[in-house]
Amino acid sequence: AGVLFVVATPIGNLGDLSIRAKEVLAGVDLIAAEDTRHTRQLLQACGIHTPLTSLHEHNETRKSEALARRLARGESVALVSDAGTPLISDPGFDLIAAAKKQDTRIVVVPGPCAAIAALCVAGLPTDRFSFEGFPPSKRAARRAWLERLAPQERTMVFYEAPHRLRELLDDMREILGADRPASISRELTKRFETTYTDTLAGLSRRAHEDADMSRGEIVLVVGGNPGISSARTPDTDRLLRVLLEELP
Ligand code: SAM
Repeated sequence: AGVLFVVATPIGNLGDLSIRAKEVLAGVDLIAAEDTRHTRQLLQACGIHTPLTSLHEHNETRKSEALARRLARGESVALVSDAGTPLISDPGFDLIAAAKKQDTRIVVVPGPCAAIAALCVAGLPTDRFSFEGFPPSKRAARRAWLERLAPQERTMVFYEAPHRLRELLDDMREILGADRPASISRELTKRFETTYTDTLAGLSRRAHEDADMSRGEIVLVVGGNPGISSARTPDTDRLLRVLLEELP
């Protein structure tokens, strides 16, 4: 039976395509790509001539069944997206589900992912975090969505289109709190890679002043709700110790 490979590709810097990713892309019968023209450029740069087929948002369900049949016949397929890790705010879920249903072997070739890259340079806690993907684009839906995220204590990672960054920051400042620490990483692994670290209020102000901040591709990382832990000071800790000693 064929093998389905889930292959991560660079998020901007070609040098981040792993040796194993190249070997797999060169060795499979077929590559299922989000945008075949985009992936053809990547393959050309590496001298790889594997045939391509498209698998995107709009044909995913139908195409996944066809690809599953080819896998069942013994062909091997590599799934890639335009940038980074497939399935992370990108197509591929239907194909994985179809492959699982028929017990096709699925192998991952991990690599770049903008969410993880941004988290690593944000300077916010990484022991627990949640990936929230793209916020709703309509204002009312976005604000309701942020309300539900407000109590969450984990660090949160968001993707956003550059032209919506300012309004997202304005809503976050109001709903999540002006003092929350946050970080914006743009153009990761590319020439103009920049990470801005500030409070939500500070980032919102700077985004309105500096047009560069919302240029290119952007990941936003926001600290979790500090909860009761922020209310603790040396004084309250001392008081707690005294009270604890009084407990039976
Ligand atoms: N699957 C991809 C991944 O693993 O990162 C993400 C695909 S999603 C459709 C595209 C979003 O990822 C962009 O809108 C942006 O938020 C983020 N992104 C991708 N490349 C980036 C980069 N080089 N720098 C910053 N953000 C990036």
